Order: sequence, then C-alpha cells, then structure tokens
Amino acid sequence: MTKVSLVTGGAGFVGSHLCEELLERGHKVIAVDNYYTGSKRNIENLLDHEKFSFYNMDVTSKLFTNTFSTMMIDYIFNLACPASPVHYQKEPINTLMTSVLGAKNCLDVAKAVQARVVQASTSEVYGDPEVHPQPESYNGNVNPIGPRACYDEGKRAAETLFFDYRRKHDVNAGVFRIFNTYGPRMAKNDGRVVSNFIISALANANVTIHGAGMQTRSFCYVDDLVDGMLKFANSDQIGPINLGNPGEFTIDELATIIIQKVGKGYKDRKSTRLNSSHSSVSRMPSS
Ligand code: NAD
Ligand code: UDP
Repeated sequence: MTKVSLVTGGAGFVGSHLCEELLERGHKVIAVDNYYTGSKRNIENLLDHEKFSFYNMDVTSKLFTNTFSTMMIDYIFNLACPASPVHYQKEPINTLMTSVLGAKNCLDVAKAVQARVVQASTSEVYGDPEVHPQPESYNGNVNPIGPRACYDEGKRAAETLFFDYRRKHDVNAGVFRIFNTYGPRMAKNDGRVVSNFIISALANANVTIHGAGMQTRSFCYVDDLVDGMLKFANSDQIGPINLGNPGEFTIDELATIIIQKVGKGYKDRKSTRLNSSHSSVSRMPSS
C-alpha cells in the first residue's frame, strides 16, 4: 500500500527536500505551507507530480485540523516554523504560536488518524549551553525572555506537547533536534553564515568573519539530514535525538573553503561583538 506523508513547512528549505525524497521513495505527499519563509519556487518541480498535493494553509488554523483529521495519513512531519533569526524575530508572537499550536494541531491530527508524527526540533533547545557537545540528556540553558525565546521556548514547548500526547493519548510521536543544515534552496536572505559567505564570495566582496573566526559550528548537508529524519520516522524511536554532522569547523575555515570553492571573495574580520547570543558556543550533536 502506498504510504501517505503530510509535511508541514513543505515549501521551505528542508521541507522541500523532504517532500522530494518521500516522492522518490514512493510516498503520496501532502505539503502544507503558508509561504511565510518558504516559496512556490522551492516546490515547483513537484507541483505536477501525480502523488504530490499542496495546501496553502496555516498550521495553526482550525482549517488545518479539520482538513486532515479525516484523511488517511501514515506519517506527519512537522517542520512549519521560520528557522532563521531574521525571520523568526520579525514576527516573534507568530513564531511562538506556530511552534506551539502547530505542534498541537499535528498531534491532534495524528491522534485522529493514528499516524506516526515527528517534530523538527532544534539544537536551539539547548540555548546557550554550558555542556559541549550537547547530549540529548542535557536540559539546556535557555533565556525565556530574550529575543531568541520565541523560537527556543516555542520549540521546547512543542517537545513538551509531543511527550504529553504520548503519555496521555498514546500518540506515536517522536522528536528530533536538527543542528545547522545547509544545501540548495537555503534562503539567500536568511542571514546565516553559509549563505552570507557564499553570497559575498559570489559578488567578489568581503566575506565578513565576526571576531577572530575561531568559534566553531557543525554543518550538515540537507540530504544527510533528510535521510536521518526518514530513518527516525520509520523507527519506533521516541527521541529526542540530535541530527547533524558530528565534525566541527571554525568559521575562519569555513570562509577559506567557500572562497576557494567559489574562486572569488576576500576575508574581512569584523571585531565587533558576535551577533549571536550563543557566540562562543561550539555546536555539534553528541551522537
Ligand atoms: P524554512 O524557513 O525554510 O522552512 C519553514 C517553512 O515553514 C517555510 O516554508 C514557512 O513558510 C513555513 N511556515 C512557517 N510558519 C508557518 C505556519 N504558521 N503555517 C504553515 N507554514 C508555516 O526553514 P528550514 O530551514 O527549512 O527549517 C525547517 C524546520 O527545521 C523548522 O521547523 C526549523 O525550526 C527546523 N530546523 C532547521 C534548521 C536548519 O539549519 N535549517 C536547524 C534547526 C531546526
Ligand atoms: N557569522 C559570521 N559572519 C556572518 C554570519 C555569521 O562570522 O556573516 C558567525 C556568527 O557570528 C556565528 C557563526 O558564524 O559565530 C554562525 O552564525 P549563524 O548565525 O549562521 O548560526 P548560529 O549562531 O545560530 O549557530
């Protein structure tokens, strides 16, 4: 029997790759997105696919639960949420509500149709961690009232709902935590380091390194992330589980690689305060 997958945030960077791979694996795919940060361009190659359907819909709406609670669905992947600080901080209240109500609506649909439901959580649930690398058992160090809280706390509350729906309603729910991911269709304007560096290098301009560039991050290629997400969804694992690249780069090394690959661009060090509340943090999954 053909499996049916519902992907919220399906027109986003990660969501569009997930939809593509699910179709490749023979699933019928229903994508939902309100185009807040996603775009039709990301899924235009899928729109004519006979097993693909798209709903321009808000995951927080009653319409969402009403529409999908009577359909045959095997898997729900909840990815709807702006992921980059520029976008999630522009509409912080919507960001928080998208995480919390979106998670609740996905869980209600999963309960009604008895689907396996998985939540795209984030390394940001660890906040400004005092433990490196962060094992899943680490509960994090999050500021509940800062400018990143709408995202970090929204994702934490979504995780809470996933575990409470398991305990209270026996929903087949699981949580994975994504670490920095890159690849085709990353939004140009999302302000994060990989896209910033590539865009500057392509323009033969300054690739701006904040501070000395010795801060480290891990970067996972989107195909590997999607593979991990699918393995997780197909398992009986509950999580939370970290998904990402266990190897780290300094930001200076990243600039060198991008300038070499693009063949243009110059390093420029900006010795101002780092732009992140997690400035000195080493980010990588522990497993
Ligand atoms: P993205 O912004 O490209 O995708 C998010 C999608 O959700 C967009 O298409 C957006 O339009 C849609 N969306 C937002 N609010 C919505 C709403 N209320 N209703 C319906 N659709 C809505 O971001 P991404 O990088 O593809 O991230 C996908 C998921 O993975 C997010 O939940 C994000 O928190 C998580 N994540 C991503 C990364 C990363 O490095 N890309 C890291 C950690 C976690
Ligand atoms: N960074 C940088 N130049 C840029 C953008 C980011 O040097 O143009 C640095 C930033 O200060 C941080 C790291 O790269 O130390 C990763 O930043 P990003 O915003 O991509 O991710 P996050 O801090 O959320 O992991």
